Parts: sequence; structure tokens; C-alpha cells
Amino acid sequence: MSEGGAAEPGGSAGAVLERAVAHLRAVQQDAGSAAVVLTDPADVAPYARDRSGHLPGDVEFAVVIASTVSDVQQVCRVATEFGVPVIARGGGSGYAGGATATAGAIILSLERFTGIRSIDAESGVCEVEAGVVTADISLAARPLGLRYAPDPASAAISTIGGNIATNAGGLCCVKYGVTRDSVLALDVVLASGELIHTGHRSIKGVSGYDLTALFVGSEGTLGVVVGATLRLLPVPLGVPRTVAAFFPTADAATAASVALFSTGVRPSMLELIDGVHLARIDEWRGTTFRSRGAGLLLVQTDGLAAETEAQLLIDVLSQAGSDVEVTADTAREQEMLDIRRWTSQDQAPRPEITLNEDLAVPRHRLVEMVRRIESISAEFGVVITILAHIGDGNIHANLRIPTSELDADGQLPPRAWAAADALVATALELGGTITGEHGIGILKRRWLRRELGDVQYELQRSVKRLFDPQNLLNPGKVFHEA
Ligand SMILES: Cc1cc2nc3c(=O)[nH]c(=O)nc-3n(C[C@H](O)[C@H](O)[C@H](O)COP(=O)(O)OP(=O)(O)OC[C@H]3O[C@@H](n4cnc5c(N)ncnc54)[C@H](O)[C@@H]3O)c2cc1C
Repeated sequence: MSEGGAAEPGGSAGAVLERAVAHLRAVQQDAGSAAVVLTDPADVAPYARDRSGHLPGDVEFAVVIASTVSDVQQVCRVATEFGVPVIARGGGSGYAGGATATAGAIILSLERFTGIRSIDAESGVCEVEAGVVTADISLAARPLGLRYAPDPASAAISTIGGNIATNAGGLCCVKYGVTRDSVLALDVVLASGELIHTGHRSIKGVSGYDLTALFVGSEGTLGVVVGATLRLLPVPLGVPRTVAAFFPTADAATAASVALFSTGVRPSMLELIDGVHLARIDEWRGTTFRSRGAGLLLVQTDGLAAETEAQLLIDVLSQAGSDVEVTADTAREQEMLDIRRWTSQDQAPRPEITLNEDLAVPRHRLVEMVRRIESISAEFGVVITILAHIGDGNIHANLRIPTSELDADGQLPPRAWAAADALVATALELGGTITGEHGIGILKRRWLRRELGDVQYELQRSVKRLFDPQNLLNPGKVFHEA
């Protein structure tokens, strides 16, 4: 078995894939399946990559757009029979290369799994299919006074299956927890094609090992999530308060974010945006944010005590020397939140490639982390922008490499990887992790062993072998070696 997982004995990965797809088409025809199978290069091209910018290269792969759980089971059975890799795909919004195509693989798209099967308002629980766009869950629950709390900034383009596979975080996770905290039960198709149901519909439940938690964050390497039972929370009562606090530097803003927790208030949002981002937004939108500072904290409080809590936070922010604005007005709140949205959206086109790092450190090491990012940027001569879910200690340190510095194959210059390596080493030294929410995918697998250590790394690979003995589910992602 090659690292890519495709079987060698039956021929090249492309030839094996061709035979597997022909067999799959026949099986699906017999079963009257409505699944769509794509092999034409123009048709499969939109499924080749995610939003990480990682390019799969010139690889041959097929796409199956499944309509039913039975379609997913058929794909897994045929893949097992022929030794073909299967890569589950949701919205393709990942930043780690997790859904990127590899040679001879079937991309299994869950885009048609958009059903919200039930919302049980009394229990605060809903059952959804894996391809539901994240934001649609709260839209459906809102008339019942409920919402799905985890809110990645990509909620309008990512799917719940992808969020589960990456254990996505988001803007209000500082108060309401990440994806794992809201997942009660899962329907998962294993590599063998068997369907299992993990977890429970009750809020509590501890029978046996917690396989639900294991599947959350497993990046499509242990099974294909086809359905989920999720916890819903009440829409907070009252009017939220939104605070924008501009500081002269990003590390001053970071220090203030840490100080906020001394008030005993847990904000429902606490985000940091650095001066480079603010200047880029100004250039793009004609705004003047950068003139107000080089570090912006966006803070929100919610619930009936929102006003009192906001005031406690404002006192700390003002003492820390920031230019503070607070609002309860919906339109002004939206304008403030737009700054965050614009930061993670595609901005004015720039001739550059971004390498997204997704570090997380304990709160008391945040200021040091931010200062060291700035010195790593200077040492390696690489622009590194900072956007952080700072309340969670999660920093997106994004390396911006001019396209003029890529080599003939479009690869990043060695100093970009050296700078990324220094960032990772610093996060680990400070007691943190190489990824807070985006996952390992392809782009961070070079550092996983360093974080886990040999013993745990091998233990984790044995878990993978137990679920997927032929290494067919998203092979080559998360773990480097077969
Ligand atoms: C503008 C923008 C903002 C973002 N903001 C955030 C943020 O705030 N927080 C955050 O955590 N991330 C964020 N992301 C990253 C990304 O949106 C998340 O990682 C998201 O969870 C990916 O979901 P997806 O459906 O797009 O998954 P994909 O990109 O399709 O896949 C991601 C991984 O999950 C696996 N997978 C997908 N579906 C399944 C399934 N049904 N079963 C098993 N495995 C599956 C894939 O194989 C792959 O390994 C952002 C991305 C963008 C572009």
C-alpha cells in the first residue's frame, strides 16, 4: 500500500480508480441510486482543493455526490474492495488541506445531505444530516427560541459535517464552547461500509468509550459522518452590547484581553485584529480604522446582564489605554462586526500566497506569543498578520508570501517554512498547540509528531489502523506516513 492508500498490485492508482468507478456505477444502477459520479477533469476540478491554497498537483480523481446513506455505504464498500482512497468533503472551506484531492481517490461529497430531520425544542436537541450548512441550523431553530451555538466565521459556507470533522471553533466559542461541546451523537459510515450510531440523545451519557468525541476532530480519517444529533441553546435574552477597543499595538490589545477575565465576566465574543489587517481593510473599503490603532479588540456581552457586564469590561479596557466605543444599536453593531468579517473574507486581490497558522497557547502566555510572532516576522523577513479568537488563546498567524517569491513549481520559499517552523516551535514551547481549530490536514502534518511525541503519535496511528485497516479514509492527511 502506498502512502496515498491506493492499491499497487492491481495497477496504477488511476487504473484502479477507473475499475472501481465502473463497478460503483454498475452497483448504483442496480440499486436505483440517484448519486452522481463525476470523472471528467472539468467536472471534478471544483472539488480538487479547499481554502488553504494547497494545490493537489496534477492528480487523477473521481467525485461521487451521494444522495443517501446507502450511497455512502456503497462507496465505502467498493473503495474497500478495490483499495481506493475516500475523501469526505463538506463545504471545502477548510484551511489545512484536509479535503484536498489525492491521486486515485474518490472525493465523497455530502453536499446533498442538507436535511434538518427534527428539532426537539423541549429537549434542546436537533438531528441533522452532515451536509447542512452550519448557519442554516440556527436559522431553522430560531423561531423556537433556540440556536446552534458554535459559530465559525465560515458558518455560511461550511457544513456541520466539516465542522464536526475539524472540531471547528468560532467567534462565540469563548463563552459557549467549540463544536465538540455541542455534539451529542453521530451516524458514521465506517471504511467497511457499516453504519454505526455513537453517543446519545440525552444531554448526559457515559456508556462505554466516548467514540462521538473521537470522531469529532478526526478529519475524515476514521469514518464518514452522515448525520448528527446536536445540542441547541436558548437564544440569549436581552440586547447584546458590542465594544470596539483600539490599542496602539497588538500586544497591548492582547494584554488587555487577558486582563478582562479578572472581572469575572465571560464575554460572548473576544476577537483581536492587528494593524496590518486594519490597514488592508482601509485600503479595500475606504475606512480609517488603522488611524485609530494597530490592535483592535472586538468584544461582545449578551444575556440580560449584557449592559452591566459590558461596563465592567469597558472599565478595564479604558484603564488599559484604549479608544473604546460601545453600542447596543443593531446597525452599528453590524458595522463593528463587519470589520471581523472583512478580515477573514477574501479582500482586494493581492499577488501573494497565504500560509495559515492556527496556533493556540494558554491565556497567560498570549502576550509573549504575540511579541514573538512579531520578532519571527522581522527575523525571517516574512509579513505575518494576526487575527485571533483571543479569548480562546487561538491565534491565526498568517504568513503572506508575494507570488514573485514562489519557485518555478509554485512552491513557497524555504524561509516561509522556516518562519512557520519557528512559530510552531514557539507555540509548543509556551505550552500550546500547532492547531486550535483548523486541524492538521496536509499542511500541519509535518509537526504532529513533534507535538504528540513518539509514543502518543504511534498510539494514535494504531487507533487509525483499528478503524481503517487498509488506510483508505483520507490517507496521507493528519499522519504523514502510511
Ligand atoms: C472565511 C473563512 C473563515 C473561517 N473561519 C473559521 C472559524 O472561525 N473557525 C474554524 O474552526 N474554522 C474556520 N474556517 C475553516 C473551515 O471553515 C472549517 O475548518 C470548517 O469546519 C470546514 O468545514 P467544511 O464543511 O468546509 O469542510 P471541508 O473543508 O470540506 O473538510 C474539512 C475536513 O473535514 C473532513 N470532512 C468534511 N465533511 C466530512 C464528513 N461528513 N465526514 C467526515 N469527514 C468530513 C474533510 O475530509 C476534511 O478533512 C474558516 C474558513 C474560511 C474560508
